[in-house]
Amino acid sequence: MAQLTNLQYPALYGLDESHLVPLGQFLLTARTLTAFNKMQQHALSDGIDVQICSAYRNFERQMAIWNGKALGKRTLLDINNQPIDHSRLTDEQLVDAILCWSALPGASRHHWGTDIDVFDGNNISKADLKLISDEYVDNGPCAQLASWLNQHAKEHGFYLPYQANKSGVSPEPWHLSYFPESSQFLSQYQPDSLRQLLSQAEITLQSALLKKLDTLVDHYVFFVANTPE
Ligand SMILES: [Zn+2]
Repeated sequence: MAQLTNLQYPALYGLDESHLVPLGQFLLTARTLTAFNKMQQHALSDGIDVQICSAYRNFERQMAIWNGKALGKRTLLDINNQPIDHSRLTDEQLVDAILCWSALPGASRHHWGTDIDVFDGNNISKADLKLISDEYVDNGPCAQLASWLNQHAKEHGFYLPYQANKSGVSPEPWHLSYFPESSQFLSQYQPDSLRQLLSQAEITLQSALLKKLDTLVDHYVFFVANTPE
C-alpha cells in the first residue's frame, strides 16, 4: 500500500492518522476531541450520556468491511434493515446494496477524524446497539439523545450530515460531524485521487465501482446536508 500514500492529501482517504489524537480506543482530530468533550459535559448536565461507538476508521478497515459484504461474509441489509441474499445480485446491484449502509473505502467521512457515531450510554450498551433508525426515534433508547442533538449539537460545532432528502447516504441520526474541520476536508476531496487509490487496491467489485465512480462520489460524498448557519 506504500505507493498509495503518494496522494496529495492522504488523510482525506483514510491513509494517514498522524493528525489524530486518542480518546480511549478511538482516534479523532484534536479540535473534534475538545468539542466532543464539551458537548458531552453539556449533555450530561441534561441527563444524557453521549458515548462514541465509532470514530476514525482507516482505509484498510473500511475495505475489510466492504470486501466482507461483497463476498457474503458479512450480513447485507436493505433499506428496511432486512437481510439480502447477495448471491442473487449482479455486481452493479451489489455495489448499490452495500452502499446503502456502508461507505466506499476511501470515501467515508470516518476517514477524517472529524466524524463520530454516538449513542446514549444511559439507555443502551455498545454491545446491544445495532445503529438502526428505530433506536433513535419514538421510545427508542437513543431517542432522547437524538432530539437533544437536534437542538444543541450545533452549539458545539457538530451537525448531522446524513438526513432524509438532504444526503445520498440514508439518514443516520447517530452520525455527527465536526463541521469547522469536516467542511474543509470535503472541499479538498478529489474524486481522481479516490480513483487512483481504488485502482491500486485489492478491492472486491473493483470494475463495477470504477465504472461509475464519479456518480458514486457525487451521490455519497458531496451530496450531504448543509452545515448549520
Ligand atoms: Zn458514522
